[in-house]
Amino acid sequence: MTKIGIVACLHGDEQFGLRVTTALKGQGDIVCVVANPQAVHAKKRYVHDDLNRCFNGSGHPYEQSRVTAILKALQGCDYVIDIHNTTTSVKNALIVANLGPKTRSIITAHPGRYIAHMPPLFAKKALIGQFPDGAVSLEYSFEYANTPRALEEVLSTVQQLQTPHPHKKRQRTILHIEKTIARDVSLPAKDNNYAYIETLGGYGFLVGENAYEGIHQGFLAARKEIMIL
Ligand SMILES: [Zn+2]
Repeated sequence: MTKIGIVACLHGDEQFGLRVTTALKGQGDIVCVVANPQAVHAKKRYVHDDLNRCFNGSGHPYEQSRVTAILKALQGCDYVIDIHNTTTSVKNALIVANLGPKTRSIITAHPGRYIAHMPPLFAKKALIGQFPDGAVSLEYSFEYANTPRALEEVLSTVQQLQTPHPHKKRQRTILHIEKTIARDVSLPAKDNNYAYIETLGGYGFLVGENAYEGIHQGFLAARKEIMIL
């Protein structure tokens, strides 16, 4: 039996994941984890430290206790799907730390056309970086996440991973993320997500995310690659 871990609310104010875990509750082969209950209760991204930057052993003892509990709950999962919301124009993108066979299976099962591939420097601090293969973060815009279609997409992804027959592949754009875009960099006045930013020589991802304000302006991919996945 394929065991799938669903992680909701690594960021407490991104609650789409809770709709997913509510819909999947009670299935024996699904492990649902509400990652940051104190932040959910406080309706905040995090309590002391950003939990999805604490998986390298840094951060306040509360976040460290959550890291331990989350990884314990996900032990033995074949796949891990970690669900986020974004305030940017990114509608439904995947974030991966590797392109191993199980990660590719999740990509194939999901309709998103864009995949951000995080470098080890970022991935090691995040949940998805803790698994050698088969862990993906999903980013849904708050707007799209409110639609029935968005929930169906995630439920259908889970269902496809549970069924062993080969699924139809499609063209995907992989953005190989290299760095963050510093907060003092001026950007073209347009939607820079997935777009080539000439002055920076790369493609934008999660540009304009409110939660990054004061830290950086989003991510930059040095190159993009078209793959059939
Ligand atoms: Zn998030």
